[in-house]
Amino acid sequence: MNGSAFDAIVIGAGQAGPPLAGRLTGARMKVAVIERARFGGTCVNTGCTPTKTLVATARVAHLARRARDYGVMVEGAVSVDLARAQARAQSIVAASREGLEDWLGRMPGCTVFRGHAAFQSPTQVRVGDDLLSAPRIFINVGARASVPRMPGVDDVPHLDNSSILALDRVPEHLVVVGGSYVGLEFAQMFRRFGAAVTIVEMQPHLIAREDPDVSTAIEAILRGEGIAVRTAARCIAVAPHARGVRVTMDCAEGEPAVVGSHLLLAVGRRPNTDDLALDRAGVATDARGFITVDDRLATSVPGIWALGDCNGRGAFTHTAYNDFEIVAANLLDGGDRRVSERIPAYALYIDPPLGRVGVTETAARALGRPLLVGSRPMTRVSRAIEKGETQGLMKVVADAETRQILGAAILGVGGDEAIHGLVDMMNARATIDAYRWAVPIHPTVSELIPTVLGEMKPAATPTA
Ligand SMILES: Cc1cc2nc3c(=O)[nH]c(=O)nc-3n(C[C@H](O)[C@H](O)[C@H](O)COP(=O)(O)OP(=O)(O)OC[C@H]3O[C@@H](n4cnc5c(N)ncnc54)[C@H](O)[C@@H]3O)c2cc1C
Repeated sequence: MNGSAFDAIVIGAGQAGPPLAGRLTGARMKVAVIERARFGGTCVNTGCTPTKTLVATARVAHLARRARDYGVMVEGAVSVDLARAQARAQSIVAASREGLEDWLGRMPGCTVFRGHAAFQSPTQVRVGDDLLSAPRIFINVGARASVPRMPGVDDVPHLDNSSILALDRVPEHLVVVGGSYVGLEFAQMFRRFGAAVTIVEMQPHLIAREDPDVSTAIEAILRGEGIAVRTAARCIAVAPHARGVRVTMDCAEGEPAVVGSHLLLAVGRRPNTDDLALDRAGVATDARGFITVDDRLATSVPGIWALGDCNGRGAFTHTAYNDFEIVAANLLDGGDRRVSERIPAYALYIDPPLGRVGVTETAARALGRPLLVGSRPMTRVSRAIEKGETQGLMKVVADAETRQILGAAILGVGGDEAIHGLVDMMNARATIDAYRWAVPIHPTVSELIPTVLGEMKPAATPTA
């Protein structure tokens, strides 16, 4: 066993570990970074980058099929060469991954170890034949797709967000179990690639964490493209079938079974903490395996921090990166930054996308505060009309007394970008009156935000 001492050890080269290594080495620390698989982690290799690249392909196919609506004549049927589309995605992924690996490899003061890391003690980490020690250890190990314990799951081939990226032919019929963020993006993408698609969701609504009006609008968008949606699906079971896989379910309506050629399981993610030997360090986890952290991302063991998806405090690249910013500011800049100061924001990259910030209207109502709500369908947004993409809505919820924005959703063309007007207002702690004299650019989706804010109406609050 080779022993080496460092000032800091970073386990995992995902979205928080590498920039942290950059700051720590910049502060003249000797840092070890350990990565067991692909540099860049989920986002770069099997998450954000490949999916958003493929969503772009799917959008081109969709628009090509709608070309006539715009007076553009495309001869013949539109089809997708999935191998080419995947190759395009993988070249973008490779550039990002290799750039990161190269940057870490050349970083002065940083030693990169390739292999699986596991704790030996609160200050020691083992990687193959190397035993590394440091007074500071940062865990950035991410998460992976969970496999639900549903009957038959071990007897049928199934895909997850990683393995689906290896398909080079469009499936005949993709059955997606799980109607939340990951499942919906793949469902629409593959429908636009030319597959028949069925979404099977246990909850009564797709993407159940969103407000019912948003969820209903999303379901309408997907159904409008010919995707079959089966909600309130109980007792989901899978079994082999001559044509692929048979998925049985107990729903309020619809056939009790669907036969697909391929099965995608998109039912959530579990943290990569089960093989870290956390018990040897004494690092506590919750019942689902997420590492327990305080508001500054310190674990139960002094000198050990957990960042990114593995701490259960965020499930996005920007939250993982913000974890890095919090830890770096507190350790190196004398700051006192906390996770609880972070205003949640995210997007769902179906097309049109959903941009979200803060709480939903449902959650705001549960606060018991007097509320103001303003909304507008995208059919009343000039830019959406001009683009021929009028599905969706925008909605803002504010506290009627403080007049601060509590949350917003923009489901519609450009929603992932336009939401940032509201993200910025919330981060600036601005009131809804701050926009009154703003002169937004016409024609944009964002230009309607001041209008929605100006037209907000009191919302009925539930009686206690
Ligand atoms: C299909 C999909 C699409 C997504 N799209 C988006 C999106 O559009 N926008 C967005 O913000 N987020 C998106 N996400 C979420 C985003 O990918 C994650 O939130 C983000 O990657 C989390 O970063 P992380 O640093 O916590 O973990 P990861 O990026 O997963 O990195 C963890 C790293 O640790 C390594 N590792 C794990 N265990 C060990 C060990 N024991 N030893 C050594 N190395 C180890 C892993 O190999 C990995 O490289 C998506 C996720 C999925 C699945």
